[in-house]
Amino acid sequence: MSNPYLEKAKQQYKQGVSPVTTGVLIVFHVMSLFAVFTFSWRNLIVALVLHWMAVGLGISMGYHRLHTHRGFKTYLWFDYFLAICGTLTLEGGPIFWVATHRLHHQFSDQPEDPHSPRVSGFWAHAGWIIFGEAQHDDTARLARYAPDLSKDRFYRWLSGYHWVPLTTLGLGLLAWGGWGLVIWAIFLRVTVGLHATWLINSATHIFGGRRFETDDDSRNVWWVALLTFGEGWHNNHHAHPVSAKHGLAWYEFDWTWVSLKLLNAVGLVWDLKVANVKSLEEAAA
Ligand SMILES: [Zn+2]
Ligand SMILES: [Zn+2]
Repeated sequence: MSNPYLEKAKQQYKQGVSPVTTGVLIVFHVMSLFAVFTFSWRNLIVALVLHWMAVGLGISMGYHRLHTHRGFKTYLWFDYFLAICGTLTLEGGPIFWVATHRLHHQFSDQPEDPHSPRVSGFWAHAGWIIFGEAQHDDTARLARYAPDLSKDRFYRWLSGYHWVPLTTLGLGLLAWGGWGLVIWAIFLRVTVGLHATWLINSATHIFGGRRFETDDDSRNVWWVALLTFGEGWHNNHHAHPVSAKHGLAWYEFDWTWVSLKLLNAVGLVWDLKVANVKSLEEAAA
């Protein structure tokens, strides 16, 4: 009997590798190797701060909890700021990212899921990006999955030119600190950030415990949560997608949730949605 998961992936395999995306990924991985020769404490610290801005603020707080799931409210300028941080990961513009992720929730681990590990672990991690026609800039096709963002002129622009903020930042860092800084804060930092985010599509649908009996394979993985500012509590998230709080138990550290509470205290974000779970033991039963 044919496997519907593989059939879907095969269609994408047949289109061959996406040359631009794959070329860029190879360049970023190869350039990262030069980090071995260009270490300095300054390079490391700048890379870590940018990792937090790109993956923590941009992906976790911005693209994921705000733009995709609307788990809290904020001012438009901060909304835009988070989206610009999101583009620094090289994961595409907000319309592409949000549309893909909404499809993932609608069809989690079904054949229509853009990146289910039921095809293969590699497919869920990176294969779905490498093979097939690149859709990162296909704003018109993806717009119907993200009508809220597509109404906004700035988001339409940013989705088409998502590489502009990263390139501008790279040139600025080159002027300030030379190639060593660019290798650490752009090439290595982006490569590590990509793998950290991809682990949410691969590892947290393969390994780890399940508190909630969701219809998908989502799991809670503590080490992915550490790498991604709280996104590893992925089974909690699939059970309660709108909740801005992913770590539900006291021991499930969720950096983004802590950040949101702090930003809420100073009035920058409000209307934080929290999963209505009476007792975690009850949920597990
Ligand atoms: Zn998922
Ligand atoms: Zn989600």
